[in-house]
Amino acid sequence: MTDLNINSRIQLADGNSMPIEGLGVYKMTDEQQLVDSVHAAYNAGYRLFDTAQMYKNEAAVGKAIKQLDAKREDLFVTTKIAEENQGYDGVMSSFEESLKKLQMDYVDLLLVHWPIHQHFFETWRAFEKLKEQGLVKSIGASNYGMIHLEYLKTKANEMPVVDQIETHPYLSQESMINFNKENNIVTQAWAPLGRGRIFDDETLKKVADAHQKSPAQVILRWHLQRGITFIPKSVHETRIVENANIFDFELTAAEMEQLDGMNKNVRISQEPEMVYEIGHQYPHG
Ligand code: NAD
Repeated sequence: MTDLNINSRIQLADGNSMPIEGLGVYKMTDEQQLVDSVHAAYNAGYRLFDTAQMYKNEAAVGKAIKQLDAKREDLFVTTKIAEENQGYDGVMSSFEESLKKLQMDYVDLLLVHWPIHQHFFETWRAFEKLKEQGLVKSIGASNYGMIHLEYLKTKANEMPVVDQIETHPYLSQESMINFNKENNIVTQAWAPLGRGRIFDDETLKKVADAHQKSPAQVILRWHLQRGITFIPKSVHETRIVENANIFDFELTAAEMEQLDGMNKNVRISQEPEMVYEIGHQYPHG
């Protein structure tokens, strides 16, 4: 664990690799703020940037990345297909738009943002096509539960190599993470910090004090030690840097257990089943 750093990558089942940590850009709608955040993250060593059609900021991400003096192959860019663009044709045409906005020839990872039953297999067929065409290096899912993955397996030629799910100490998702591991799918945590709402938790504060680290750093370290990847979001340079400084300490087995014990099975967002059944559009009201 101690030889890892912010640039470390994890192997994906398709032969590609992905940085273990990245910057999430959800709700960054002010262009200059987004550009500054991406640049601060890049300077702090982040190489993965996580956007989505739904965030309406792919163009700003493209602009921020263009301004970096970086080789494209050193970066890892993820975007996601919105529910309204699912279906074979919708994926193909909306993805073309996404690439234009990002000013890129390819993305490293394309995710189905949420499972919806209307276009379940058609959407995935388009994903496989985009990968075949080289426009997407890796294909994955987001908010897919076990049932969605089991069902997809009945027709997919290739399975998702990443499943990006909500997980933080109040929603530890232990079974889902184990399922993903058993199926060679890398779990990537969204809202890894519980969207900043759980920092006052006493257990967390105690562990943080013991290491002279912040609650945010302890949570990210917990994710790292339980073997998953994560994309915390912040627009503040100091926090962006803080969230990257998690590679110089280690939680004990007892501390890992204490954080595991914080689980309440509480979601910040929608149940994936509700989205699957009624196609409820994010942000779900
Ligand atoms: P998060 O858990 O990353 O929390 C972000 C919030 O935590 C910030 O807005 C800030 O208030 C606070 N914060 C961050 N670092 C901090 C620090 N060091 N100290 C104190 N406060 C700090 O929540 P998120 O933004 O919802 O999730 C991260 C990313 O995951 C998003 O930006 C997005 O890219 C992705 N995401 C994906 C989905 C999906 O359905 N696939 C849904 C939501 C988010």
